[in-house]
Amino acid sequence: MDSTPPHDPELLDKVINLAKRRGFIFQSADIYGGFRSTYDYGPLGVNMLRNVKNAWWRSMVQLRHDVVGLDAAILGPPAVWAASGHLETFTDPLVDCLKCHGRFREDKIDGVCPNCGSTQFTESRAFNLMFKTQAGPVEGDGATAYLRPETAQGMFTNFNNVLTTSRKKPPFGIAQVGKSFRNEITPQNFVFRTREFEQMEMEYFVPPAEAEQWYRYWIEQRLNWYLDLGIPADQLRLHEHELADLSHYSRGTTDVEYRYPWGWDELEGIANRGDYDLTQHSVHSGVKLEYYDQAANERYTPYVIEPAAGATRAMMAFLLAAYHEDEVEGEVRTVLRLDWRLAPYQVAVLPLSKKPELQGVSQRVLEILQPHFSCDYDVTQSIGRRYRRQDEVGTPLCITVDFDSLNDDAVTVRDRDTTEQVRIPIGELLATLRTRTQ
Ligand code: ATP
Repeated sequence: MDSTPPHDPELLDKVINLAKRRGFIFQSADIYGGFRSTYDYGPLGVNMLRNVKNAWWRSMVQLRHDVVGLDAAILGPPAVWAASGHLETFTDPLVDCLKCHGRFREDKIDGVCPNCGSTQFTESRAFNLMFKTQAGPVEGDGATAYLRPETAQGMFTNFNNVLTTSRKKPPFGIAQVGKSFRNEITPQNFVFRTREFEQMEMEYFVPPAEAEQWYRYWIEQRLNWYLDLGIPADQLRLHEHELADLSHYSRGTTDVEYRYPWGWDELEGIANRGDYDLTQHSVHSGVKLEYYDQAANERYTPYVIEPAAGATRAMMAFLLAAYHEDEVEGEVRTVLRLDWRLAPYQVAVLPLSKKPELQGVSQRVLEILQPHFSCDYDVTQSIGRRYRRQDEVGTPLCITVDFDSLNDDAVTVRDRDTTEQVRIPIGELLATLRTRTQ
């Protein structure tokens, strides 16, 4: 089977098209002409996005004893964002094109207007990316609230709460998955950069002397997570920021980059943030955020290593990496070679005909599999077309119930990637599928 190379110039359009046509991702409010830079996740997209977040949670929280979870509020008071530095410095340089009046992020356009080619711009000014709103019916400063532009601050402000209730001690982490909002100047490239998106972040608190070692450790862990979930090694790389380019608080930042159709770009950032965040919140709130090491009779502010990933951005990279066109029986087919853990449906149950007897057996198969796998059920059109439809959305296994099933109580299991088919007794189906999806 011949695979499409990753730099197919039409890859992005093909994936955007597939995502819309098959119910992964829709333009938000599209019946009103669409609301720029917001997207809705359809029946397949919501499954896949949830799978991405679950895979992250499993590797970062469930399979570890040193990381606990958190789900903090999205709305926050100005005090949090004053302490974190976001009110003052969470800005991008904004310029207006003097010819067409388009607005751009200065650091993304190399001095040339992407709209009209002009090189004449206004002076750049700092544009704060936070969404500001009012909490409660009273207007005025006391009622100002912000939508969080990252999930991280909830982990810092809850440091003492988590420390005392979980009885963890450094090195330990707090993980969170949830929505963040940034008023991006130029949202672009589908769900790569949007104004509302989902993040998967973890703050790992360590004794200062161990920070460098844990920083290296988390870079490796995070790169491996993408590799393990099927992104080919030649489409991933690490990019360590030069010291001169680092944010004022950072002692080291490395991005995991993916080779998107437009070139290498960020997928996730891993930073050694030193004691900046806990110190800032201690100073601003007047509440000490420290760890008391009883054995050494020593009080210290832990350093923090932060792997910060985007769930929606990661989903897009998984879709791009999985998209292939190959040839089966002389016909071109589109296939998403998604890891079974990410696929919207892991199994599709397909009765060969709409006859009630076959639907009855299919129902029994579904009842066996549904508690363990995300299953689709499809009775329409020819079996060949149904296979293609499942290939196109990445379903790893199709189960066909045919008239022989009524006699031998067995079904045909077809593999998405090899298209090979094997006959399996219904009684052995669950055990067999479990070994196929390990
Ligand atoms: P950029 O430089 O691309 O604006 P950043 O370095 O500011 O991103 P971080 O603050 O490190 O991004 O955010 C961590 C992760 O959150 C990013 O690696 C990305 O996966 C995701 N992310 C950040 N901003 C957006 C956005 N506007 N849309 C979608 N995902 C985002």
